[in-house]
Amino acid sequence: MDLNTITEVIRRPPSRPGVEWQEGDAWLAGGTWLYSVEQPGLRRLIDLTELRWNALVSSDAGLDMGAMCTIRDLYAFASPDDWIAGSLLAKSCEAFLSSFKVWNAATVGGNICLSLPAGPMITLTVALEAQYELWAPDGSARTVDALDFVTGDNRNILAPGEILRRVRIPARALRKRAAHRRFTLTRLGRSTVFLIGTQTPGTSDLLLTVTAGTTRPVRIAFDTMPDARNLRRSIDEIPAGLWFADPNGTPDHRHHLTRHFAEEIRREFMAGGPA
Ligand SMILES: Cc1cc2nc3c(=O)[nH]c(=O)nc-3n(C[C@H](O)[C@H](O)[C@H](O)COP(=O)(O)OP(=O)(O)OC[C@H]3O[C@@H](n4cnc5c(N)ncnc54)[C@H](O)[C@@H]3O)c2cc1C
Repeated sequence: MDLNTITEVIRRPPSRPGVEWQEGDAWLAGGTWLYSVEQPGLRRLIDLTELRWNALVSSDAGLDMGAMCTIRDLYAFASPDDWIAGSLLAKSCEAFLSSFKVWNAATVGGNICLSLPAGPMITLTVALEAQYELWAPDGSARTVDALDFVTGDNRNILAPGEILRRVRIPARALRKRAAHRRFTLTRLGRSTVFLIGTQTPGTSDLLLTVTAGTTRPVRIAFDTMPDARNLRRSIDEIPAGLWFADPNGTPDHRHHLTRHFAEEIRREFMAGGPA
């Protein structure tokens, strides 16, 4: 849609963007959300395309994703064979149900920074214990755990003018076993709940990531596989105010689904799968 409050689009931001940040500015990544709703508070868009932050680099250390990596490019990425949890990359892209036009333009960074509960790149990167590199307007940088970035529905820890530069997923997490469950109210709908469990090979630990059902990601860690009762109790301990309400599900429905799918994930690991 036309954004009729925008007076300027900055096509060539400085290589350290943010130095000229003003009230009413917004970073423009793929623009799939920015151009989909009215933006009455915005005056300038700062286009990140020219910075060429779209690289997807794998190494012994893990996977490095530039914030401008598109959903399409992430989907096409072929993980090394020993990255068992690498299948989650494509699965998470598939959780982003939209047309090819959106997939071609939407970026990993835009999805994370929009910080919707059903942001699949948030689910993916929290479950795989990623770290985010953030750049501040004063030239300083900080690294934060993906888990700590989103603070609520459409809210995160970014300060004015701060930008997400890249996401790093450690190889250690990519080598884990993984299982996921997702529920949508309609066949091509937005996630009502999206859970991912991971397990270190050769151990019985469990790292359970709960998203979409809650306003921010929740991670529950067990040193050894819990029994059904303890798993259920840990989900019941998620504060009542964190369960998300929107047309895709009530808080009670999401709580119920999370209990159900967490138990399925537990049983999948207990049965020896997934590979
Ligand atoms: C049909 C359709 C279906 C959709 N389905 C989903 C869905 O299932 N789940 C979901 O989460 N979203 C969904 N969206 C919303 C949106 O398209 C996605 O979240 C998308 O990934 C946003 O990425 P983008 O690159 O287009 O971001 P943009 O629209 O360019 O930006 C989104 C926000 O993030 C900020 N931003 C972008 N990059 C950075 C950065 N590097 N650092 C700091 N801030 C930044 C922007 O200023 C803006 O506030 C959907 C949209 C459409 C049109």
